[in-house]
This record gives sequence, C-alpha cells and structure tokens, in this order.
Amino acid sequence: METSFIYQALGIREQECSRVRYEGGKIILGIRTRDDKLYCAKCGSRHVIRSGSTVRRFRSMPIGSRPVILEMTVQRLECKDCGAVQQENIHFVRGKERYSYRMKRYVLDLCRIGTIADVARLVHMSWDTVKDILKAELGRRYTRPNLGGLRHIGIDEFAVAKGHIYMTIVVDLDTGRIVYVGNGKGADALDGLWPRLDRAGCRIEAVSSDLSEAFISAVKEHLPDAVQVYDHFHIAKLMNEKLDKVRRDTYNRETDESKRRLIKGQRWLLLANGDNLSPKAEERLCKALDINRPLATAYYLKESLRRVWWQDDKHDAALVLDDWTGQARESGLKPLETVADTFHRHRDGILAWYDYRISNGKLEGINNKIKTMKRQAYGYRDLDFFKLKLLSLHDATYPFSG
Ligand SMILES: [Zn+2]
Repeated sequence: METSFIYQALGIREQECSRVRYEGGKIILGIRTRDDKLYCAKCGSRHVIRSGSTVRRFRSMPIGSRPVILEMTVQRLECKDCGAVQQENIHFVRGKERYSYRMKRYVLDLCRIGTIADVARLVHMSWDTVKDILKAELGRRYTRPNLGGLRHIGIDEFAVAKGHIYMTIVVDLDTGRIVYVGNGKGADALDGLWPRLDRAGCRIEAVSSDLSEAFISAVKEHLPDAVQVYDHFHIAKLMNEKLDKVRRDTYNRETDESKRRLIKGQRWLLLANGDNLSPKAEERLCKALDINRPLATAYYLKESLRRVWWQDDKHDAALVLDDWTGQARESGLKPLETVADTFHRHRDGILAWYDYRISNGKLEGINNKIKTMKRQAYGYRDLDFFKLKLLSLHDATYPFSG
C-alpha cells in the first residue's frame, strides 16, 4: 500500500518510518531522516557523517481521532566542511517545541472556534499546552500594538481577582482597541506607556479617565499638551455612591420602623435613571422621598447632575455645574458637600467634555468581557496570558472567552 500520503499529511517529507505501534490509544510512529536528506545545520553542507543519536518525541497531527506521536531518532552530525558537530535540523518543528509546526497550526485553528478546554479535549493535549501554544501566538501578534495615529485615549483600572489584583488598560477611543495593559492601578501602572507613545511619535490630544489623582497627575506630567476629560460615567457613579451614603445615614437615624422599611427597599430605585422608571416604581420612590427630606434632596441632585452634559455649549454647562455645586454645598448633607468640592476641583476636566466628547463608555463592554473571563476562573492564573487576551480583544480571530 502506498503510505507516503500519510507522511505528507503529517508534514514529515524527509523522514522514513521504521515502525508503527500503539500505546494507550495513541499511534507511535518511529521515524528517522533519510540519509540522503541529512545536512549540516550550521553551513548546509551535505558532506556529513553520523556521530550518535538521541530519541525525541513530538506530537503530530491526529489520524482520525487518534493522537499521533512521532518518535524520532535525531542524528548528531559531524560536518566535513565546517567541522561543526550538531544535531540535525528538524524541519517540521520550530525551536524547542515538542509538537510539529503543522500540529501547532491545527491547534491554533481550533482555538478560533472553541475554548482552550474544548481544544485540549479534542486533540488530547493538556489545557496548559494548548494555552501555551495560543499564548505564544498571541504574544507574536499583539505584544507590541501599533500606536500610530493614536489621538484620543481612555484610561481605566479593573480588578482581575476580587480586590487584590488590579490592571490598568488604555483604549484607543476612536477604534475601541486596547493599546496598553499595565499592572496595578496607580500612576506606575502607566510607566510602560509613556516611552511607547514617544517612540511611536504619538500626539495625544485628549485623555478620558476617572477622577483618580494618580492618573490625572501622571497624564499631566507625561502629556502636558493633552486635554483631560473626566469620564461622565465615573462622575455619575461617584454621585450614586454619595446618594447611597445619604440613604444609609438616613436609614440608620430613622427610628420609625415602617419608615425604615420604606427607605431600605428603595436602593435600586434611587440609583436608577429617573427617566426610565415605570409609573408604579415612581410612586414607590415618591413615597420614600416624601417622608424624608435629605434623601429627596440627594435624589434631586443626582438626577439634575446629568444636565451638565445636556447643554448647548460649554458656557451654559459651566453655569449648570456651578449652580449644582452651590446647591450641593448648601444641602447640609456631608456626603454631598464633599462631592461638590470634588466636582469643583475638577471643574475644567468635567467641562472639557464640550471640547472633546469622549468618555470611557467603550471600556464598559471590555469590562463585561473581563468579568466573563474571570468567571472562567483562570484569568489571573497567568496574568501575561490574560494581558495578551485583552490586547487581542479587538481582533475577532480568537474568541476572548476561550
Ligand atoms: Zn557545516
């Protein structure tokens, strides 16, 4: 029977098979390079003589559903031209890898349509081996993202493992592509970013971030000409936290049990966007607000804060914001006074939205994907892999969740 097509399929053109055996469901092919195909790995001369050998095993393409292992007698060759004594070159393997190049491409193709766990099961490889193959490929493609043409960026941090491992991501706000991932959530998380922006000759015009002093001062230092825009989602979130603080304070002070119950159940109603409430929900909310003055004030201020981004121009927005901070300061409620001071200190960056209408909205979708990946519980087992997955997120070649 003509069997050479099998070797073609496995990508082992220059070897001959001396024996085939089966071992625990696997096909083991004993192979060695044909004498006429041996050459010096250093100078390429065919003028070589054998000088010992070792046996190495490589994973190859499966035949049917059977895993195939190439058990290769690898020759040590002495070159009569250059004098080198070296192991023969194995053309179907790259570097020190323990699988054939064709097998690697096959695994990568499967990774496009399935999770690592799926692929590992299908090809009878360990989860870690499949992950390492994918990681090397992602590293090759995405370690150094092209930063040319970058103008508007968003910076945000997120927790990888609950509360103790953080990462900072930088997104190209024009394309939604993640261009940088740093460890931690302080200013030093961005240390690697600045030299890259320099080298790529980027002229960043505007940066969107939350009110974190670490990010703000780092951007001011490294991108002195960039306009800083404080992300309105974060500002709304900060306001919601203060509103919730007022609600908790009110609840703790209230002695009437029925009123306490009314306040306690309203958390999500208070924090929801007031424009989207059902009539029934609105009625319940009104009741809670009716019995409690501070809560009503805080709720009203939370709702009216959005008006800052609804104006025709920056000048009108400034009037609305100043009016808002004035009311918050006079509310007699400590959490609101604090947040009024914060907003006033960051007034320029809040209003800068009228110069560059950017926000970290694009980072929300990314955050949801990170949550999915965390649920799969391996996100932080290999942070470098996790980072590469983030950097590859914009490219749909490999599914992020895999
Ligand atoms: Zn040689």
